[in-house]
Amino acid sequence: MTTPSTIAYIGLGSNLSEPIEQVKNAIKAIENITRSTVISVSSLYLSKPMGPQDQDDYINAVLCLETSLSAIELLDALQTIENEFGRVRKENRWGARILDLDIILFGNQVINSERLIIPHYGMTEREFVLIPLAEISPLLQLPNGQKITFLSQKISANSMIKLS
Ligand code: ATP
Ligand code: CA
Ligand code: CA
Repeated sequence: MTTPSTIAYIGLGSNLSEPIEQVKNAIKAIENITRSTVISVSSLYLSKPMGPQDQDDYINAVLCLETSLSAIELLDALQTIENEFGRVRKENRWGARILDLDIILFGNQVINSERLIIPHYGMTEREFVLIPLAEISPLLQLPNGQKITFLSQKISANSMIKLS
């Protein structure tokens, strides 16, 4: 019997220890997640930090993953990767981090559990999520029917720079 697969979108971010390399290596690590295949990866973007400004700029990207894992199994796999990359969880929210992997969308599922909120609660206000998402999946719609093109066009790019 084959397990049904889901198209998920994952947001990647890093602003420590050569963040471009961290994000590229994280993509390779995600390619090795069991029962999952990376379908496409956005460009890398240089973006300003959210929250505390006394930290370096971020490298962000979004990728599309086909997976037969459940959303919570995927979160476990992503958090294992964050830990392997040496992520240290600190008290201060949105502080500098070596790797952040967020599940942005998981098929058309809407999840509000203790560990998981999907669609990601901040996605519609974050240019570093919307713009790479629109780049790789311009026809995408959120579970509530909102179109990614609409959301990405109305957000300010906030001096985000697309890297080649
Ligand atoms: P933000 O959530 O605002 O982007 P953050 O990524 O810095 O901030 P973290 O410290 O990485 O926050 O994550 C805190 C918790 O958020 C995680 O332990 C996880 O259980 C929970 N979480 C809820 N929804 C999601 C999601 N869609 N993707 C990843 N983690 C999530
Ligand atoms: Ca995040
Ligand atoms: Ca996170």
